[in-house]
This record gives sequence, C-alpha cells and structure tokens, in this order.
Amino acid sequence: MALLVLGSVAFDDVRTPSGYRERVLGGSATYFAWAAATLVQTDLIAAVGRDFPDEFMAALRGRGIGLDGLVKMADVDTFHWSGRYGDDLNVAQTNWVKVNVLGKWKPLVPPAWREHPFVFLANDAPQNQLAALGQVTKPRLVLCDTRDLWIDQDRAGLEEVMRRTDGIVLNDGEARQLTGERNLIRAAHRLHALGSRIAIIKKGEHGAFLSVDGQGFALPAYPVAEVVDPTGAGDSFAGGLMGWLARGGVADRKALKQAMLAGTITASFCVEDFSLDRLKSLDLAAFERRMEEFRQFLSL
Ligand code: AMP
Repeated sequence: MALLVLGSVAFDDVRTPSGYRERVLGGSATYFAWAAATLVQTDLIAAVGRDFPDEFMAALRGRGIGLDGLVKMADVDTFHWSGRYGDDLNVAQTNWVKVNVLGKWKPLVPPAWREHPFVFLANDAPQNQLAALGQVTKPRLVLCDTRDLWIDQDRAGLEEVMRRTDGIVLNDGEARQLTGERNLIRAAHRLHALGSRIAIIKKGEHGAFLSVDGQGFALPAYPVAEVVDPTGAGDSFAGGLMGWLARGGVADRKALKQAMLAGTITASFCVEDFSLDRLKSLDLAAFERRMEEFRQFLSL
C-alpha cells in the first residue's frame, strides 16, 4: 500500500569524528523516503528553494520516490541544517538552522495521493504537518516526528498534531524535552496522555522502545562497528518502520513489533556513511540479509 511522507528536504553541513561534509543532501523526508522506498512506493510532500540543484532532484527521482508533491519555490532558499556530533554519536548538536522555505511554504497534497492509507509527518513545522493532515482522508495509520526546534517554537501546534495522529516517533532527548520525564517508560505514558496511542522512543546505539497503549516492547540496535554519520538515523528508522507496515498493509501490535525490526535494520545502513551515501546502494536483498542476521543475533 502506498505511503505518503511530509517533511524537510535539506542541505546539511555535518561534522562527525569521521570527517566533515558541506551542503550534502539531507532532510527528514529525504532520509525517510529514501529508506521506505526500499520496501514500498513512497510519495513525498516537501518544498525546496531556488538553490536546490538539479542533481539532487534527479537523485530523488532515480530512487523512484513520487515527486508530484515536491515544490520548488523561486523566491527563497532551501532549508539548511548545520550540526555536529562529538564522541557521543547519539547526540546531535545543532550549530544553526536556516528555516528558509519551511517557514514560507503551504503543503499541497496532490488529489491522487489524498487517500494513501499510510502517512508519516516527518520533522517539519507543526503548522505544515497540520496542513498536510487536513488534506488526507481517513488514513489507516498516521505517525509523526518532531524535534527540539519545534518543541521550543510551537508546542501548542505539536500537541494538536499529537492529538490528531495515531502515534509519535522521536528520540530519547526529544521525549524528555517534550514530556519533562527523565524515565522513558514514564515519558511514553505521558506521550499517550498527550494523544499518541503509539509512542516509539529511539535511543541511538541503545536501540528503540515501543509503547502501544502502555504495553512495552524493546529492541537493541543492530551492532554497527563503525558509525560514520548518525544524521538521518531517526528518519531512516521511521522510513523502514512505516515502509514495512505499508508493505504488509497491517498496523496492529504484532506488525508494529516487526516493523521496529525493519526500522532498526534500515537505520543501521544509514549510519555507515555520510548523507545518503550508504542508503543509495541499499536494495531489498541486502536489507533482507541483514534482517535475518539480526533475527539470529536476537535469538536466545
Ligand atoms: P535525524 O538525524 O534523523 O534526527 O534527522 C536529521 C535530518 O533532519 C537532517 O537531514 C536535517 O536536515 C533535518 N532537520 C534538522 N532539524 C530539522 C528541523 N527543525 N525540521 C525539519 N528537519 C530538520
């Protein structure tokens, strides 16, 4: 079943202990769509600016991602994020953000995509997430994501997004910032109270935690020997998770647990190189091989 994603398509400047990259292709929706497209047709709602190169556009098209909802705005630049990671690769430090097009754009979901059963609202301004949500008709499952900037700038908008969606996928730091709870079980319960029936909290190299109506499930991360660039790990986790659910067309508790596995595997590929470089060569066969290897790794 088709999958719809709204989010950022960005330029990223990233420094990690393995090196530095400038103006590489990034963005929450880019990572998500790139990862999900391994498993299912994925259609993208996003905006870029006048400075977005044709080469990046061609790369997205080449991946088979639906681009009818990708708008290029003539009078503004592309969203640009600059971040760094120290020795603790689980924590991204933002140097600066140029919101640019994200603050100017109004998402428009093409009519042919409005009945997509699976929808992901990746990191974007909550007002953009709400605008997209208002244009889709009765999806089977809608999950959302957020991060520090939006929790600070538009908490009310974000809480409305949470009330109007089935669940939220976010990292441990964001869960603490949003809920004020240090303990992640308590944080998940607070997320439920805010309207997210499904709460997925990612903990970087320590894995991910799922809570559905208060019932928990946890997975370790796939053991990656050399993490080169953690940027996009969260988005590609969500892409693998939603891609798996959309591929199977089911979103019950059992499917969600299996989808956590798919998300974990996809994220493990993402962090092995800068930007989308490792995901670029990811195909279904490599995904399935690692999935099987991880099942063995988990078996008691
Ligand atoms: P992740 O590492 O999965 O949490 O996400 C990293 C990606 O999110 C980068 O490619 C950034 O371009 C993008 N990003 C960073 N900050 C924001 C923001 N405030 N809104 C939307 N996307 C963002």
